[in-house]
Amino acid sequence: MPFLDITSPTLLLNTQVCRANIKRMADKCKRLGVGLNPHFKTHQSKEVGNWFKQEGVERITVSSIVMAEYFADAGWDDITIAFPVNVREMDRINSLAERVKLSLFVVTVESAISLSTLLKHKVEVIIEVDAGYGRTGIPVDITDRIDKILGAIDAAPQLSFYGFYLHAGHTYDVRGKQSVADIHQQSLSGLQVLRKRYKTTYPHLKISLGDTPSCSMLDNFDGVAEIRPGNFVFFDVTQATIGSCSFSDIAVVQAASVVSIEPSRYEILVHAGAIHLSKESMLMETNDGERDVYGLICQLSHGSWGEPLEGCYVRKVSQEHGIIRMDKSLFGTFVVGDVVGILPVHSCLTADCMGGYLTEKDEYIRMMNWRR
Ligand code: PLP
Repeated sequence: MPFLDITSPTLLLNTQVCRANIKRMADKCKRLGVGLNPHFKTHQSKEVGNWFKQEGVERITVSSIVMAEYFADAGWDDITIAFPVNVREMDRINSLAERVKLSLFVVTVESAISLSTLLKHKVEVIIEVDAGYGRTGIPVDITDRIDKILGAIDAAPQLSFYGFYLHAGHTYDVRGKQSVADIHQQSLSGLQVLRKRYKTTYPHLKISLGDTPSCSMLDNFDGVAEIRPGNFVFFDVTQATIGSCSFSDIAVVQAASVVSIEPSRYEILVHAGAIHLSKESMLMETNDGERDVYGLICQLSHGSWGEPLEGCYVRKVSQEHGIIRMDKSLFGTFVVGDVVGILPVHSCLTADCMGGYLTEKDEYIRMMNWRR
């Protein structure tokens, strides 16, 4: 019986929901005339990657050299590593650049110079910029740093300048379409100023951006050549709370066995802890006030699952343990030996913890062998 026979912590994947998520984003890009260069760090699986291929996707984005190698082995030949280039990995970068069209993120003049001296094959360089997230990327108004990087790129025959990229990860800190749109507008404005400044010297420069909240909710991508969202392939509780999706669009659920029940606290203990779900939490309003929540609870059925159960949530995780606080009225729903579904707070991290998926057709999909 798909999903109900599991014995140990297992990440369930509803392939129909997942493929619908992929198709929705691909259709939107076609409608808006924007390229889709999806980030594959969420699913990390060549099987799931093939579903993108079937929607016409030809170029992909990843977050590490090992992921780039994995997808190159799976036949992808146009790959961006969307993480500031790590010059200590130059041997592997060189080998990869020999067999695929490779694009690299550069955010410092030092790494641009290292690429120019150590790289033996052609790569495209994307300068990552920042309009307010504050994680990585050159602040859009610090153009003298951009100029220096461009100088290093121009001086190296094997480097060509692709354009600017911006990941507005701070859309995760807000709720609702208008707040996401405000951040997105800031990103677009920053990128447009840069394009205006550099387009005479680099007439082919492209701008791209990508975060699931903006790319799922908004339609204004004026001047953007391509978008690179990733999480939308599965979505999760965070995205549903921001407003990027509904709960029924979430394509993965952690299945966990009930191993103990504590009636005095209306709690159940399940076998799904931090090593299965990750330790990512989000502040949510619960029956107990505002709390850190590590997942929402749903009931599993043959090959699918239901909406989150009102008032039930993962209150705490330790390495193997997950403590679920139940709404009093639903306390009898699960007994020892049952299997519970946990909608993840952050599906990228949960998937990375689990290494593979069990589908509603009872087939197991392996992810890449990570951390090599
Ligand atoms: N681009 C970069 C540079 C990222 O780091 C990420 C995710 O962390 C993405 C794109 C995809 O964004 P999302 O996870 O919101 O889909």
